[in-house]
Amino acid sequence: MKIIEMKNVSKYFSLGGDKLYALKNISLSIDKGDFIAVMGQSGSGKSTLMNIFGCLDSPSSGSYRINGVEVADMDKDAHAELRCKTFGFIFQRYNLLTSLSALENIALPCVYYGLENKTRVEKARKLLYDFGLENRAENRPNELSGGQQQRVSIARALINGGEIILADEPTGALDSKSGEVVMDIIKDLHKKGHTIILVTHDQNIASYANRIIEIKDGEIISDTTKSGAAYKTQNTETIKKKSRFSYMRYQFYESFKMSLKAVKTHKMRSLLTTLGIIIGIASVASIVALGNGSQEKIMSSLNSIGSNTIIILPGGGFGDKEANKIKTLKISDTEVLSKLSYVDSVSPNIAAQGLIVYKNLSLLSSLSGVSAEFLEVNNKKLQSGRRFNASEVKSAAAVAIIDQNTQKEIFGTRDALGEIIIFNRQPLRIIGVMAKEDEFGPVNMNLNIYTPYTTAMYKIVGNQEIAGITVKISDDINSHLAEDNLVKVLSALHGKKDFFTINSDSVRKIVEDVTNTMTLLVSSIAVIALVVGGIGVMNIMLVSVTERTKEIGIRMAIGAKRKNILEQFLTEAVLLCLIGGAVGVLLAGLFSFAFNNLVDDFNMILSLNAVLIALFFSMAIGIVFGYMPARNASNLNPIDALARE
Ligand code: ADP
Ligand code: MG
Repeated sequence: MKIIEMKNVSKYFSLGGDKLYALKNISLSIDKGDFIAVMGQSGSGKSTLMNIFGCLDSPSSGSYRINGVEVADMDKDAHAELRCKTFGFIFQRYNLLTSLSALENIALPCVYYGLENKTRVEKARKLLYDFGLENRAENRPNELSGGQQQRVSIARALINGGEIILADEPTGALDSKSGEVVMDIIKDLHKKGHTIILVTHDQNIASYANRIIEIKDGEIISDTTKSGAAYKTQNTETIKKKSRFSYMRYQFYESFKMSLKAVKTHKMRSLLTTLGIIIGIASVASIVALGNGSQEKIMSSLNSIGSNTIIILPGGGFGDKEANKIKTLKISDTEVLSKLSYVDSVSPNIAAQGLIVYKNLSLLSSLSGVSAEFLEVNNKKLQSGRRFNASEVKSAAAVAIIDQNTQKEIFGTRDALGEIIIFNRQPLRIIGVMAKEDEFGPVNMNLNIYTPYTTAMYKIVGNQEIAGITVKISDDINSHLAEDNLVKVLSALHGKKDFFTINSDSVRKIVEDVTNTMTLLVSSIAVIALVVGGIGVMNIMLVSVTERTKEIGIRMAIGAKRKNILEQFLTEAVLLCLIGGAVGVLLAGLFSFAFNNLVDDFNMILSLNAVLIALFFSMAIGIVFGYMPARNASNLNPIDALARE
């Protein structure tokens, strides 16, 4: 049975416009189980022929069939599959991967076959044993002699079956003793049923074969068959096909292992490459953590205003210069408002500035005249003492509640309850002290005291102007609907809309929007850092592909498909970026930790989500920027890649 058939195969190389024919009209066929020696002088086209046999190169014209199938009609993956499963290459210069051990080198074709690690190692160990290399398994190629390396490379050619062995001057680089060992192995393989095609310029070596084809200047000049027919072919064992999923899993696992190796080999370079990613991710993560922290801080301060609160102020809005002159809000308004079904509580606010005098102390302070319900309305709590009662409000009683600042400034740690302070010549008895509240930003040092609004109107300010009304809406009511209704009611009461409202929920929304916008803004700057980092990764991956062109060629020669190569380099780029991302996240974590310990105002919050998103981003950068170099690698022509030193 003809395993190989060539008809009128020519191959030329274009050299500066000229066609240099390496092969001219080669026609031959090879039987299964044959042992062929291709002889000829250097430059006669032997290697070119061999490369075409092995689907590493394609003919310029003519027909080449393997097992009756036209090779030109197959796609590149099918060529790779032939190299993986049908052919076994033995090169003059061994072409082992220097970073892998003997065992790993032998097992490598099985990776592209899709065998699981255990089976691979078993098969490789058996071959090592067969070739007397069992105690060399862990040695790298540079720790082996030439003869040993060639035996490793023969083992590699055989591990997937090696139905057709293509040996290009296998003894060319060996001393005669090692050469003999190698030739004995090859002879033995022939006996076991392998089809052997051997290239040599050495008559002695050629004499092992039973058919000698001599070529000169790319043409066959003789083709002699010796006596002794081909050995009966034995069925090479068939390897059980793995499911597609486990194939992909092995491939991925192998790519990952190889990438890890590559990254480890160039530690410093990998670190420098990923610096951009590290900085980018660290800054994005830190900024997001800062944003989250400050937002939470603001929110908790806003909570002290209380949700569902609407503040009504005179005038047309903030900055209305006429607002001071507008005296539209009246105590009667609060009474009307408090009767509305959706209103929980109402407090007017009458504001005054003045001096608090206590003994020989005299301090500037703000006074607010409020209703008995002002604690609920403003979401404040008492630390000690009691609130105003209705009769105190009605009778304009001279009582006051002071805040923590006042307590501290005037009384220190002493109990203030029952003490009398004088505000603008009006004595006030302290009946309550408010609890400390969360505050955002620089600590507010203002002193605030609260009296019933009646006391403020009649005894302190001397008129009935109201600075504002704070309305707390019942919890189950939508504050925006309530706000609309409130405005209608109050406008009807006044005959026109001479006031404006601030809804605490809207304020909260604004704060959220502002922090989000800030985060987005600063993050987009950090994205630039990430893009720069990504370009760095792309750059180093391009370098890596160039440096490892030979390796890519070897991998392709032993059966790697383009997608295997693509996956390998893409995995490497993603791994680099992920390492960068992880280091970046770690830095952001350390920074948050330090920040939270040093700064009291608010905490950085590095959420799990943010960490995951950062890692996802670094992975995406690896894919985006690693794709081009990886595609370049996968698109290399196997024969050109192999020829690279
Ligand atoms: P052999 O293996 O018999 O020494 P080759 O098959 O390597 O010869 O080369 C045959 C001819 O083709 C030589 O003249 C060589 O210079 C030429 N050749 C081989 N490969 C290339 C190439 N990639 N580009 C241009 N010329 C080439
Ligand atoms: Mg050659």
